[in-house]
Amino acid sequence: MDEGIDFPEPEAAMAKLLGTRLSVDIARDAVQAFGGMGFVQERGADGATSVVSTLYRDSKIGEIYEGANEIQKWVIARRVLGRDVTG
Ligand SMILES: Cc1cc2nc3c(=O)[nH]c(=O)nc-3n(C[C@H](O)[C@H](O)[C@H](O)COP(=O)(O)OP(=O)(O)OC[C@H]3O[C@@H](n4cnc5c(N)ncnc54)[C@H](O)[C@@H]3O)c2cc1C
Repeated sequence: MDEGIDFPEPEAAMAKLLGTRLSVDIARDAVQAFGGMGFVQERGADGATSVVSTLYRDSKIGEIYEGANEIQKWVIARRVLGRDVTG
């Protein structure tokens, strides 16, 4: 796209779907690895914040906006199976 070349629709949908899913998977694993400290937003009485839960929340929105991932799957299915099947 940066080079001005037309970006094909299904490949863009595939990239968005895979990239956002991967970022949520990685952030979720990070929360799990940090245990309770990965879940809480405040780390201690001094008000220090934990970035891990914020990363999880921030990554999750990628699956929702700019075309929710279910819609990206529909875009891909439409190209692979055709409008007669997907509607
Ligand atoms: C932080 C943030 C920033 C945003 N920024 C912008 C912006 O800059 N510009 C802009 O235009 N919009 C913006 N939005 C809106 C965003 O694009 C919408 O939230 C998004 O398109 C999802 O629409 P919705 O919230 O109405 O959810 P819904 O459309 O109600 O979707 C809810 C769920 O149902 C699923 N779903 C919906 N329809 C189908 C279907 N036909 N088949 C299967 N599953 C389906 C969705 O995939 C989703 O999982 C922003 C939203 C947020 C939260």
